[in-house]
Amino acid sequence: MFISFEGIDGSGKSTQARLLAEMLRLQGHDVVLTREPGGSPGAEEIRRLVLEGDPDRWSAETEILLFTAARRDHMERTVLPALAAGKIVITDRFADSTRMYQGLSRGDLRGIVDQLHGLMIGREPDLTFVIDMDPAKGLARAKGRNGHEERFEDFGEGLQSRMREGFLALAREFSGRCRVVDGDRAPEVVAEEIAEIARKSLAW
Ligand code: C5P
Repeated sequence: MFISFEGIDGSGKSTQARLLAEMLRLQGHDVVLTREPGGSPGAEEIRRLVLEGDPDRWSAETEILLFTAARRDHMERTVLPALAAGKIVITDRFADSTRMYQGLSRGDLRGIVDQLHGLMIGREPDLTFVIDMDPAKGLARAKGRNGHEERFEDFGEGLQSRMREGFLALAREFSGRCRVVDGDRAPEVVAEEIAEIARKSLAW
């Protein structure tokens, strides 16, 4: 089973991905917890190329190619081998983040993201948790943490609000696999709801 967590910066994705992994491991499941951009040595190198340094180093189109290359490597080296071995893979971000950030933040490039995804990745998660969060609170949380790498904080709430609406629209578009969870609650409460949904999906 392949599970992704999506949402705006500071929505609590990473915490919830970790809590779900811990819960499933306690139940005896073999879980691989991974992340994007990154999740394999090559993809982590691409993450550094894109997220560190001058934010305008790459054009939007080149950035889509780099993120897709990173995802391809992540799939080949980490995700697909683990799924083939019967493990549960939980990823903190996947293609929906590229549909949003690279697809929407610098013009409407969603069509290019989808075409490359079809050509090079061709797989969606079985279950996606979209953690919904008030953009102002998300931004405050993201700025408050150590070693934060947020690229878009200077764009402020405007972009975050567009991203939030975009993620909610994506959840409607991919309603078969997406579940929207209200992230504006205590982490344990959010984790309990996510665990319940995951338990039901695993029982299918
Ligand atoms: O999720 P994480 O905090 O690791 O993401 C690091 C930064 O990269 C965030 O600012 C996020 O918005 C950005 N990002 C991006 N495009 C993606 C995924 C993440 O610009 N496809």
